[in-house]
Amino acid sequence: MFVSDCLSVNEQGHLTIGGADTVELAAQFGTPCYVMDEAQIRQNCRAFVRSIQEHYDGNGVANYASKAFCCKEMCRIVTGEGLGLDVVSGGEIYTALSAGVDPAKLNFHGNNKTPDELKYAVESGVGRIIVDNLYELETLSRIASACGKTADVLLRIKPGIDAHTHDFIRTGQIDSKFGLAIETGEALEGVKAALNTESICLKGYHCHIGSQIFDVDPFEHAAQVMADFIAQMKAETGYEAEELGLGGGFGIKYRSHDDPPAYEDYMARVAAALKEACAARQLALPFISIEPGRSIIGSAGLTLYTVGAVKTIPGVRTYVSIDGGMGDNPRYILYQAEYEIVNAARAGEPKTQTITLAGRCCESGDLIQENAPIQPVEAGDIVAVLSTGAYNYSMASNYNRIPRPPVVLVNDGQARVIVRRETYEDLTKNDI
Ligand SMILES: *Cc1c(COP(=O)(O)O)cnc(C)c1O
Repeated sequence: MFVSDCLSVNEQGHLTIGGADTVELAAQFGTPCYVMDEAQIRQNCRAFVRSIQEHYDGNGVANYASKAFCCKEMCRIVTGEGLGLDVVSGGEIYTALSAGVDPAKLNFHGNNKTPDELKYAVESGVGRIIVDNLYELETLSRIASACGKTADVLLRIKPGIDAHTHDFIRTGQIDSKFGLAIETGEALEGVKAALNTESICLKGYHCHIGSQIFDVDPFEHAAQVMADFIAQMKAETGYEAEELGLGGGFGIKYRSHDDPPAYEDYMARVAAALKEACAARQLALPFISIEPGRSIIGSAGLTLYTVGAVKTIPGVRTYVSIDGGMGDNPRYILYQAEYEIVNAARAGEPKTQTITLAGRCCESGDLIQENAPIQPVEAGDIVAVLSTGAYNYSMASNYNRIPRPPVVLVNDGQARVIVRRETYEDLTKNDI
C-alpha cells in the first residue's frame, strides 16, 4: 500500500514509520521534522553488501554516496554495516572523520575539488580520490608530493551512455561536466598522464551514469563499455586496471506505481555482464565498487509538517500551506520531483481530495506537490510527505531565515534525535 516497507497504519488510523506513530512524533519533536527508519536503512545496506557477495564473490564494496543524506550518525550506521563512503566535499570528509570513520573507507568525488579540499583529503589519508580531469590530476600531484604522500586514484570516465532520467541528473553522456570522454581521446590522455605523474598511483576507473534510473540495461551497458576501455588501455599503455567503480543511481519508489528493479537483480545482471566482457577480453576481474545513495536512505525517510492556511480558489485549485517548503525540500522546485502525501491521522482513509501542497517561502514556485491526492485535510492536521530521506535534509537551506528541521531516527517504535533543530541563534552565529 505504501512506497516503503517501513510505513504502515496503526489501530488509530495513524501513519507509522518504523513502528512509531507519526502524529505522536510530530507532537513530541515538533514540525517540520524529518523522520528516518534505522531498520530500513540497515536492510537497504545489507541488500547491497549481500548482492556483491552473491553475484561477484564479494570482490567489491558498496560505498554509500553520503551526499544523499550526511550526518555523523548516518556515517556510523552505514559504515557499521560494512559499506564505505563516497564524499564530495571537505565538509563531508570532516563529517565522516568526526564520526570516527576510517579515512581509508572514503572515496572523494567531484568535478572541481578545491586545492584545500585535496590537501585535506591527502593529509587525512582518504582512501581513493576519483580524479575528474587533467587540471585536478596536476593539482593533486603537486599537493601529494608536497606532503610526501602518494595519492591512490581512480579516473572518472564518461562511458557515453544516455540513461533515461531527468536532464539534471544524467551524467554519463558526452555533454556532461563530469569526467573524461572516451570518444574524444581525453580518457586515454588522462590514463597516460596518470601513469606518468609523480605521487599518483592509478588504481583504475570510475563511471556514474546518472540517478533515479529504473532500467538495468544502461548499467549493464556501462559495465561492458568500461571493460572495453580497460582492454583498450591495456593494449595502448600496458596498464590493466585493478579497480572499477560502477557508480550509483539506482531508482527508488517515490510513488506507488514506481517499479524499480530489486538491487539483487541489478547486481546479478551487471556482474554477469562484467564477467562475460572480461572473459572475452582476457582481463582479470576488477575489484568493483557500487555507490548507492538515494536507494539506501530515500524510502527510509519522510517529512512531517503541520497544515496552516487552506485556500480554495474556485475552479482553480486548493492550496494547502504547510510550515516548511523549499527550504527543507527543494526537489519539487528543482525538478518537479513526485511524492506521495498523506494526512498522518487519517492514513487508512481513501484519498478523496486533490490539493497543491504549498511551502511557506516567499516564492510562488515554493510548492512540494501539485494536484496531489490526499485524505480530507484541514488546518492543524499533520501531513507526511513520503520518501524524503534522500536529497532533502542534504539540500536544505535557510532561505527566508527559516531554521532547518531536526532529523529523528526511529527504530522499532523508539525515537531519538540525530540532528537537532536549528535555532534562531544558529542562524546568526556567523554574522558579524
Ligand atoms: C550522486 C552520486 C551517486 C549516488 O547517486 P544516487 O542516485 O543517490 O544513488 C553515486 N556516485 C556518484 C559519483 C555520485 O555523484
